[in-house]
Amino acid sequence: MKRLGILGSTGSIGVSTLEIVAAHRDRFEVVALTAGSNLELLKSQIEEFSPRLVAVASEDLARDLGEMLPFGRPEILCGVPGLIAAATAADIDMVVAAIVGAAGLVPTAAAIKAGKDVALANKETLVTAGRLIMEMVAENGVSLYPVDSEHSAVFQSLQGHRARDVKRIILTASGGPFLNYPPDKLAQVSVTDALNHPNWSMGRKITIDSATMMNKGLEVIEARWLFDMPAEKIAVNIHPQSIIHSMVEYVDGCVMAQLGVPDMKAPIAYALTYPERVPTGVKPLDLTALSGLSFFNPDHERFPALRLAYRALESGESMPAVLNAANEVAVEAFLTGRIRFTEIPVLIERTMAAHDPHSFATIEDVLVADRWGRGKARELLENT
Ligand code: NAD
Ligand code: MG
Repeated sequence: MKRLGILGSTGSIGVSTLEIVAAHRDRFEVVALTAGSNLELLKSQIEEFSPRLVAVASEDLARDLGEMLPFGRPEILCGVPGLIAAATAADIDMVVAAIVGAAGLVPTAAAIKAGKDVALANKETLVTAGRLIMEMVAENGVSLYPVDSEHSAVFQSLQGHRARDVKRIILTASGGPFLNYPPDKLAQVSVTDALNHPNWSMGRKITIDSATMMNKGLEVIEARWLFDMPAEKIAVNIHPQSIIHSMVEYVDGCVMAQLGVPDMKAPIAYALTYPERVPTGVKPLDLTALSGLSFFNPDHERFPALRLAYRALESGESMPAVLNAANEVAVEAFLTGRIRFTEIPVLIERTMAAHDPHSFATIEDVLVADRWGRGKARELLENT
């Protein structure tokens, strides 16, 4: 029995994780769930999975949730201490890190320090604090399993091979909803257009990141740390069908790829049950039904965000954390109608230009850089 703590259980990844748990009750027990503010969904998850502990964003929400659960309620905590409690409880074996954004960093780091294995969806943890996190993983002897579909594909394509035989990693990218959009029309796209991803159904923030291609930039940084691979050995191919989830090319010219219908339940299940495989309910892949698989290079002029991520990796250690912070501010500003779609990478670039990069000694240093990036991005936003 694997005992789980699921951080961000009401999100897109959290809900898919619980679908896998529901299909394999003999393997998993849910010890802790955390949610931001979707109390209705959390309540139904509590009724279905009977966690011992739950955490929500604020004291008010904790009180409201308590009132919604008159009988047999779990322990209800709130705020960052609640997240940390749910990530570190003694009776948890594995933490599913599925909070969105840099808010996932502190609880994920706490889980690692407490000796928990982690199924990592929260890529921002590695984007902001990659080196520190991988050092903590090694020091604490825990396993970090990727949930991100591309990284799961790379992880799967590495099985049975020696890391030193890898020539490069090729991350695939769908290209998002604006792949073939005329560049001069990008400034006018609406929030609804940007949220309309062709292949994947995901949370709002990552869906906008996919439309700008910042998601792929964040994934390059994530891969750099997860697989200890320098940025020049991480390539990105646009692959609009999202059937090949990523590839590893070896020194002998052989390329290993992982294929499947795009459905996050497959990489989530692999992270939860590695090295075993279990049925997921994901639709079988019928290659004969596909009209073709295509691949091409990303258009950096149309999607400058990807290049910004590579640039951040080349700069000092704090730059990716600043890029991430500015991206979170910019995406929120786009979603609330304050800036245009094409202004997202501009705001990130301007924030990065104002930053003097430095290295990190502790997670607290990362949080300082994150706050600095948010503050600077907001200041630039006010003055435009
Ligand atoms: P989502 O917005 O659907 O869900 C996020 C979850 O985190 C919710 O439960 C929300 O309540 C909680 N949350 C948000 N902010 C919080 C905060 N400040 N404190 C505590 N809880 C908070 O997001 P998602 O699409 O499920 O993505 C989650 C993570 O997984 C992201 O890092 C994303 O990049 C990554 N990811 C998602 C997908 C996908 O298909 N959705 C694929 C690959 C990677
Ligand atoms: Mg991905």
